[in-house]
Amino acid sequence: MNSLTIKNLSKTYANGVKALQNVSLEIPKGMFGLLGPNGAGKSTLMRTIATLQDADEGSVVLDNLNVTNNKNAVRRVLGYLPQQFGVYPKVSAEALLNHLAVLKGITNKKERDELVKALLHKTNLYEAKKRNLDGYSGGMKQRFGIAQALLNSPKLLIVDEPTAGLDPAERNRFYNLLSEVGENTIVILSTHIVEDVKELCTNMAIINQGQVVLKGSPLKLIENL
Ligand code: ADP
Ligand code: ADP
Repeated sequence: MNSLTIKNLSKTYANGVKALQNVSLEIPKGMFGLLGPNGAGKSTLMRTIATLQDADEGSVVLDNLNVTNNKNAVRRVLGYLPQQFGVYPKVSAEALLNHLAVLKGITNKKERDELVKALLHKTNLYEAKKRNLDGYSGGMKQRFGIAQALLNSPKLLIVDEPTAGLDPAERNRFYNLLSEVGENTIVILSTHIVEDVKELCTNMAIINQGQVVLKGSPLKLIENL
């Protein structure tokens, strides 16, 4: 039983901006939508959950693990796709996944080859596995971002505005992939597109100016917006 519990999280930046104010959320397995306008505090919240920065107050707990005090343990079960996953070198998807798998400590070649092959199939990149990443389309790059995040077999996958700039077909393809992952993982999707949350997510929260203004089931909440 996986879940993420966020309690009374607050963060004020050095310039005085209150990016998070007393944010509390219970995030179960499945797809969770985090909605809010630019500047609402979504990235600050996601970076805090992803162990990339600390809040001033409050706690984030994954199952029984306090995220702030157990960063390394959390990183082993975390997948994170930042807003602009910027590294697209002149190397093929297959070669880079293989390399990342080595870095992860999968030294058995047969095991590594099978894992890489499975990830390429899952993200629909198998046919394009020999092509260099810098030549991939936006949608392919995002699907590669999911492939690299899945190398960790994450319990928790965080994706920040993943479909910005994708055409509708690629967006659908990406969301189908994400939904599949959400069947046995906690997936937190940040977006400002209400329809995406309505279609995909079983739970959601809306944040504005660092505060949770609504939380619950999208079907119930969104009709009233
Ligand atoms: P969102 O992801 O919803 O756009 P952010 O978490 O990026 O929101 O930002 C929340 C607020 O905090 C914004 O007003 C933003 O300008 C501010 N902010 C974000 N990062 C920093 C930082 N490193 N220093 C100062 N202010 C920041
Ligand atoms: P988002 O695209 O999620 O809204 P931003 O564009 O606000 O994020 O921020 C991009 C980067 O700039 C982030 O790393 C954030 O921490 C930093 N940043 C944002 N606002 C400020 C700010 N007012 N002062 C300093 N750094 C900021």
